[in-house]
Amino acid sequence: MSEPDVLVVGAGAAGIAAARAVAAAGRSVLVLEARDRVGGRVVTDHRLGLPFERGANWLHNAEDNPLVKLAAEAGIRLVDSDRLRRERTHVGGRLAEAAERAAYDAAWDAFEAAVAAPREGPDPSVAAVVPRGGAWDATVAAWQGDIIAAAPLDRVSLQDFTATALNGGNMLAEQGFGTLLAGLAAGLPIRLASPVARLGWGGAQAVAEGGFGTVRARAVVVTLPTPLLVSDTLRFDPPLPAAVRQAAADLPLGQVVKVGFRGTAALGLADFTSIDRQVAPGEALVAMNARPFGRDLLACHVGGDAAAALERAGDAALEDFMRAEVATRFGALAAAALHPNPIVTDWLRDPWARGVYSYARPGRAAARGVLAAPLAGGRLCLAGEACHARLAGTVGGAWRSGEAAAQAALAALR
Ligand SMILES: Cc1cc2nc3c(=O)[nH]c(=O)nc-3n(C[C@H](O)[C@H](O)[C@H](O)COP(=O)(O)OP(=O)(O)OC[C@H]3O[C@@H](n4cnc5c(N)ncnc54)[C@H](O)[C@@H]3O)c2cc1C
Repeated sequence: MSEPDVLVVGAGAAGIAAARAVAAAGRSVLVLEARDRVGGRVVTDHRLGLPFERGANWLHNAEDNPLVKLAAEAGIRLVDSDRLRRERTHVGGRLAEAAERAAYDAAWDAFEAAVAAPREGPDPSVAAVVPRGGAWDATVAAWQGDIIAAAPLDRVSLQDFTATALNGGNMLAEQGFGTLLAGLAAGLPIRLASPVARLGWGGAQAVAEGGFGTVRARAVVVTLPTPLLVSDTLRFDPPLPAAVRQAAADLPLGQVVKVGFRGTAALGLADFTSIDRQVAPGEALVAMNARPFGRDLLACHVGGDAAAALERAGDAALEDFMRAEVATRFGALAAAALHPNPIVTDWLRDPWARGVYSYARPGRAAARGVLAAPLAGGRLCLAGEACHARLAGTVGGAWRSGEAAAQAALAALR
């Protein structure tokens, strides 16, 4: 079909949600996807012989997450990650003692209180308002910044950080989050390996061009990650309004790298163990998740600038770095027992992502609303995780944003 009512660019969560909404309204839809698979930043990789999430892992904000209900309908089993998780914190090579754990908990509480404190005036960075100098402050900041926001807190808007804070339950999909999304995309008219190179949107019809040929549609939903909106990978004609380009630039994607190992028996860990360690200011924090669903898997995450530098250094450097972290916590023998050839992710290098999820620069929290506003009376709608003011950075936010964009595009058809 080369003349659908609505064209959707991108078959990640936002694009799948948008396409389903258009189809449910009885209108014709076509999705053009650059990669040779659906799911975008949600992909379950089976190369280790078990499901490993290269991208999104948790269904955050479970009470307000549309994927929870869809998973149940699709027969995907969800478990409550918060209830099953066992936490383990190391101080160097030993476990934190009770007094240290209490101090760590207090540092988390102090951080939460600092970001939640009422404040007047301009929107500072998160780093400007949170405690520092305490024994555990750098560890909490590394979690909240490098891992959760995927960027150091001095680059992150306080207003956006609090508006988009993860709260509520966190669920895990037994068959895989990527498996869930692929199932939700089944049956939709999606053309894979079809990157859109040019999108004309000035006239009565949108015109998409690329190696696939030409597709014309009455309205279009574009779900590109923000770095691609400002990089001209897809050339908009006319260019996107300056305010929209600025909004995309103000919502960059942060960095997280994951390394997934098999060979975890020597670690002696219980199922669903979450492991961290105390870090000094500026030191990279590696967060580890062991044995989800009883599987022989250790997923190691590092975020922020360290993740970007390690990804640039290459897969071998990343594997060595993670093995060294495992050795620090569990000893050299346990590190050596991890199997060779782990899965190493590369979201920064990935030409169709260029990062993991969006954060807002200080003073720029309003950018999400600018990005989400329909253009040309709804004939061009941007969608994706960066467009959601509350659930930004998550699959649930991308899904809701895709649904909202589809409604705006459908309204433009009337
Ligand atoms: C390592 C990592 C961990 C994460 N952890 C979590 C988590 O635990 N929980 C959570 O909720 N979220 C998590 N996220 C974030 C979540 O994955 C994203 O917020 C969400 O998947 C974004 O969906 P989207 O549809 O907005 O964008 P995408 O998934 O990026 O979809 C955009 C699609 O557009 C395609 N595309 C790009 N350019 C073109 C073009 N020119 N033509 C055609 N198609 C194009 C891309 O290939 C892609 O498929 C994580 C992400 C990463 C990478």
